[in-house]
Amino acid sequence: MDVDQFNRELLAFLAAASTPFHAVSALASRLQSAGFSPLRSDQAWSLEPGGRYYLTRNDSSIVAFTIGAEAAPERGMRMVGAHTDSPCLMVKPAPEKRRAGYFQLGVEVYGGALLNPWFDRDLSLAGRVSYADQAGALRTAMVDFRRPLAVIPSLAIHLDREANQSRSINPQTDILPVLALRAEPGTPSFRELLRDRLLVEHPDCGVREVLDYELCFYDTQPPALVGLHEEFIASARLDNLLSCFTGLQSLLAADGRQSCLLVCNDHEEVGSLSTSGAQGPLLLSTLRRLVPDEVTLAQLVANSLMISADNAHGIHPNYADKHDDNHGPLLNAGPVIKINANQRYATNAETAGLFRLLAKEEGVAVQSFVVRSDMGCGSTIGPITAGGTGIRTLDIGVPTFAMHSVRELAGRDDAAQLCRVLQRFYNHSGRLTPA
Ligand SMILES: [Zn+2]
Repeated sequence: MDVDQFNRELLAFLAAASTPFHAVSALASRLQSAGFSPLRSDQAWSLEPGGRYYLTRNDSSIVAFTIGAEAAPERGMRMVGAHTDSPCLMVKPAPEKRRAGYFQLGVEVYGGALLNPWFDRDLSLAGRVSYADQAGALRTAMVDFRRPLAVIPSLAIHLDREANQSRSINPQTDILPVLALRAEPGTPSFRELLRDRLLVEHPDCGVREVLDYELCFYDTQPPALVGLHEEFIASARLDNLLSCFTGLQSLLAADGRQSCLLVCNDHEEVGSLSTSGAQGPLLLSTLRRLVPDEVTLAQLVANSLMISADNAHGIHPNYADKHDDNHGPLLNAGPVIKINANQRYATNAETAGLFRLLAKEEGVAVQSFVVRSDMGCGSTIGPITAGGTGIRTLDIGVPTFAMHSVRELAGRDDAAQLCRVLQRFYNHSGRLTPA
C-alpha cells in the first residue's frame, strides 16, 4: 500500500475510533472483512492450521492471530502489541452540575492527560452504556454523539493577568465542560439523555433504563495532514491508535506462512492492570488455548518475540534540550527503538538487533531514543508483557510531538515505514532467537 493510501485509511480509523470501545469495534470489523473469524472466551474453540481468528475482551481490547502453514513451537510466534486507550476526560457517575446559570458535567481525568489543550475545543462524547432492556435483561451498547455538544472555555486573560506565566489547572474545578444553559425544571437527566441517544443509534435496542456508562469527551476536529508540504499528521489519540492501525495493516498484509499475533490492550495509560490490560491474563490465556500443553507452551514462549509499538518523543525544536543530543528522534526519519537501562522499556541488544536487521532488509531507517540521564523515563506495555509472559520483547514507536495532548503530531511517512518493518517481521521465516 502506498503512503497516501495508508494515511487516508489511518485518518479514517483515527476519526472512527473515538474511544477504546470504538477502536476495538473498528479493528474487529476490518479483521472480519479480511476473513478473520471471531472467537469467544466463554466457548470452546476449534482452530484450524492456516486459520485467522480474533477475540475481544471487555469490548476494549483485542487479540488477532493467524496459525501459519509453517507453525511449530520451535518457530515461535511473531507478535506485535499496542494499546487502545488514550488520556481523556471521563464523565463521573452523578455528573450533573448547575453552576452560575450553566449546565455542566463533572469529569474525572483518565491517564496522564495534558490538560491545557482541552480548553476551547468543540467536544463530543462517546463510550459504552449499560442498560436494562424491556425484559429487564442487562445489555451494553456503544454511543458516540458525533457532534460538538460541550466546550471548556478558557478564563480570559483580563481576569488572570498571570495566565501566561503561572496558570495551573485544578482538575476538580477548572475543566468541567459546559453543555447548556441551566436546565429548566423537567429537563431530562444525563441518563435520560443517554437513553435518547441509544434509541437514535440503536433503534431496536429496547432500552428501558440506562444503568451505567464509561464515556469520554473527545475533540471533534477531524484528523488531518498539516504542514507546508503536508508532512505531518495531526490528530487526537495518535498515542496509540497509530500503532494499533499500523499493527493491523501489517498483520493483514502478512503472507500467512508464520504464526502471527496482534494484541491491542486497554488501560495502558493507567498502569495496565485490568482484565483487558497488558498486566491482565488476556495474552497468556489466549496462548494457553492455542497450546494447552505447558511444556510446548514454554517452548513457544521461548521462541517468540513481541514488538511493543507505542509512540516515541521526537526532539522538539523549541525544547531541544529536553533530549540527549545524540538521541533526538526526528519526525519522518523512521521508527524509533526505545531503550532504558532501568527496564522502563523491554528492549535489549538481542531484540533490538533483530529489529535493526529487519529494517535494514526493508530499507527503512531506524532511530533510537534514550531519555536524558537526569530525567525520569516513561514506560509502556513492553516491560509488562515481557515480565508477565516471559516473551522476549522490544519497545519501538514512531516519533511524535505533544504526546497526551488532545491533538498530537506525527510525521507523514513514519507509520507507513513502520508498517513495512512489521510486515517483514510477520513474514520472517528465520528463527527469532540468535543462532
Ligand atoms: Zn502510549
